[in-house]
Amino acid sequence: MDLSTFRRAAHAAVDRICDYYATIEQLPVAAQVERGYLARALPDAAPTNGEAWEQIERDFEQHILPGMTHWQHPMFFGFFPSNATYEGIIADMYTSALTNPGFNWNASPAVTELEFIVLDWLAKMMGLSSAFYSNDLSHSGGGVILGGASEATLTIAISARERALRALAEQHSESSADPIAWRAAMVPKLVMYGTTQTHSVGAKAAMMLGIRFRALDVARKDQYGLRGETLRAAIEEDTARGRIPFMLVATYGTTNSCAIDHLDEIAEVAKSSPLLWLHVDAAYGGVTWCLPENRPERIIAAFNARFDSLSTNLHKWGLVQMECSPTFVRDRHDLAKALSMTPDILKSKGMDPAALNDLRNLQIVLGRRFRALKVWFMLRSYGTTGFQEHLRRSIALARSFADQLRDMPAFEIVNPPRWGLVMFRLRAPDESVDVDALNHALNDALLERSDQLFLSPTVLPEVGYCERLVVGAPATTEEHIQKTLRILQECADSVLSK
Ligand SMILES: *Cc1c(COP(=O)(O)O)cnc(C)c1O
Repeated sequence: MDLSTFRRAAHAAVDRICDYYATIEQLPVAAQVERGYLARALPDAAPTNGEAWEQIERDFEQHILPGMTHWQHPMFFGFFPSNATYEGIIADMYTSALTNPGFNWNASPAVTELEFIVLDWLAKMMGLSSAFYSNDLSHSGGGVILGGASEATLTIAISARERALRALAEQHSESSADPIAWRAAMVPKLVMYGTTQTHSVGAKAAMMLGIRFRALDVARKDQYGLRGETLRAAIEEDTARGRIPFMLVATYGTTNSCAIDHLDEIAEVAKSSPLLWLHVDAAYGGVTWCLPENRPERIIAAFNARFDSLSTNLHKWGLVQMECSPTFVRDRHDLAKALSMTPDILKSKGMDPAALNDLRNLQIVLGRRFRALKVWFMLRSYGTTGFQEHLRRSIALARSFADQLRDMPAFEIVNPPRWGLVMFRLRAPDESVDVDALNHALNDALLERSDQLFLSPTVLPEVGYCERLVVGAPATTEEHIQKTLRILQECADSVLSK
């Protein structure tokens, strides 16, 4: 493609994108295709000769779009949201146009500097202590924007393991004889904690590092949040067995039910375990700290006083496109000690000897996208009030949904609604009915309507199979909530009449 073709094609593409958003409601919410549909439709090898752009565009519309589930559709209520904004689309265009790997300050100074600026903006919006600001040079805390919560958890786990092994080596002088062998002998003793409700990113990070993961129990009576006492008991038990608890993945808003681990109790218990790295996975819930009315001061105070790191996904409910997981750490040296490696070609003039101002030292990969631009465009265009307004609107719509569902006798809400999430199921009409089977039937009925709405079911411990509805797409309005309730009633009627 040459520049003049690009000019025409890009203009046309922007027009198509505008048409897409103007008419998104007329599209089926979920892709109505069978697994393997695309391999049957497309050639199994790349074309030998280049093809005309018009043909490629036609095939995009004919074959790719029908295979898309529309997460920006106002009737999309599955998983967690994956917000898009026009600001983000423009940022992605510029990011692609200016493609560069951003690994060092001198790879493109604005990439590094804007990242630290927007991280500080977000830290302030969330009420994080200045210990986590990147541009406050009185300490070494700060952040980096990683690709996702999975990458954040792995990155933090690598850093926590390094911190623990170094601290242990200092306590054991015999380690210096053969440090590598000594570390290899210590790794099997390490234990990472999460709960039975922690996202699999915790167990997966441990698996990738060859480290034991222990899922601590949580109970319905605590709304599935980890209690300090449970953590204390686990630490005592593992220590007695000669194991070394080195990291806890606490969650602020679990994926299943938006459970919140008791960060204040955890901070208290962890006082006597200096080796334990306290991380908060706030992938979905972190943005709610931007709402003063939703920011439990006791929790934030505990986080600020004692926790080592937190990551949240702006690419979920935070109005920024994939991939965007701001990750804050109390001491960036902990990242750099585990992740920096500087061959001659990467040495740059003015390089901070502590290496905190080159992004490559704070992440696993070397090259990465210019992630800060979309955050900057969005935050400037929405302002903090516009950003808060978006979150409040989703929360109000979820509350409206829950309030109206409570008046529908066929249904019951199975967990107190939190933020954009409501969990519910059909009530068994009498004791002879298996409530799980009934709700599987409800889900089958909802799948039949997946062109009209999208929900994702789950299993809640001590409850069973249930539906999850999450409001988060900016396009959703009260009218869509009404429509959803109507469809739910119709599905309930058909299931219950069988
Ligand atoms: C969504 C989610 C994740 C995974 O996030 P990615 O950015 O897709 O890796 C991890 N933890 C929690 C609590 C989540 O909700």
